[in-house]
Amino acid sequence: MTTRPRAKAKKSPSPARRKGARPVKTRKRKAPPPGERLKVAILSRKASLYSTSRLVEAVRAHGHEALVLDTLRCDLLAEKGRPKIYYEGEELSGISVVLPRIGASITRYGLAVVRQLESMGVPALNGSDGISRSRDKLRCIQLLAQAGIDVPRTVMMRERAHLEGAVDRIGGLPVIVKLLQGTQGVGVMLAHSFDELESMLDTMWNLEQEILLQEFVAESRGRDVRALVVGDRVVGAMRRTARVQGEFRSNIHRGGLGELIELPESFAREAVRAARVVGLEVAGVDLLESSSGPRIAEVNSSPGIEGLERASGVDVAEAIVAHAIRLATSTPPPHSPRS
Ligand code: ADP
Ligand code: MG
Repeated sequence: MTTRPRAKAKKSPSPARRKGARPVKTRKRKAPPPGERLKVAILSRKASLYSTSRLVEAVRAHGHEALVLDTLRCDLLAEKGRPKIYYEGEELSGISVVLPRIGASITRYGLAVVRQLESMGVPALNGSDGISRSRDKLRCIQLLAQAGIDVPRTVMMRERAHLEGAVDRIGGLPVIVKLLQGTQGVGVMLAHSFDELESMLDTMWNLEQEILLQEFVAESRGRDVRALVVGDRVVGAMRRTARVQGEFRSNIHRGGLGELIELPESFAREAVRAARVVGLEVAGVDLLESSSGPRIAEVNSSPGIEGLERASGVDVAEAIVAHAIRLATSTPPPHSPRS
């Protein structure tokens, strides 16, 4: 499968230095001596989850120690100069690298834990800044659009009287309505008429939920491409197709079917760029197949790997872990300017 974009040929700058990426905070971090057994922490609610258990397997296959930490059982202690984490009463120490798998329902707590680990000098894939950006769909779209990446035209508005103008600006009905924090297809709707749209907006605004309106990329109805980016390359990709009659969302969690595809180079390149702009080392990028080429719908920071591994046969967990080990064992740059 030719998923590696050709742009990769020249040596890329260190992850911490890439344009748009927040630097991995490297306070006092030293690369461990070569050959040392690493302690790889995986933040996850449950060790039995598919992605978590596959990551554990991959860490062990490298001969390193895997430590699954339930995010909500991490107690944080901040005091002058000595950030600490206690887990089941014990102080955590010696973690070489952390792989956060933060579910959308615990984003806030998860981010606090990742930030604490970063402040202890532990490199994180993904880092807290990237995770935080990825959890706000509008923030992501703003960053991608600003970087010149093709995204569906998107508006945010809060004034009912502006509705017709807003719909006009994104190409007319039907339009996609998205919650800023939705995931797995929940919180993504399609409105075919102004009546339908108004009732959706009334409901959302009454619940104090911000929404965005988005151009419906009709050519891509019921299907999209999920590309899994690790570092500078796409390690696996699949086309997802909705199987339920009338369903426009292709998420696997909504019953979508994943199939292996030969990823066009333009898709791979855009997926890698999108991950970089959001500041993610590991990203599940959703690309819509529009008549003018790939358009990015979304960038996920804790992408599930089950659907992709099953559809593509690619060992995605191994690719993620190998990248984490590379990052943990590379010497951090002497000074990482904040971007
Ligand atoms: P989620 O975080 O819930 O996965 P997405 O933004 O990825 O949210 O949208 C879910 C699905 O809806 C996508 O996988 C795609 O199939 C469909 N979709 C999203 N945005 C558009 C759009 N602008 N035009 C057409 N289909 C879309
Ligand atoms: Mg998605």
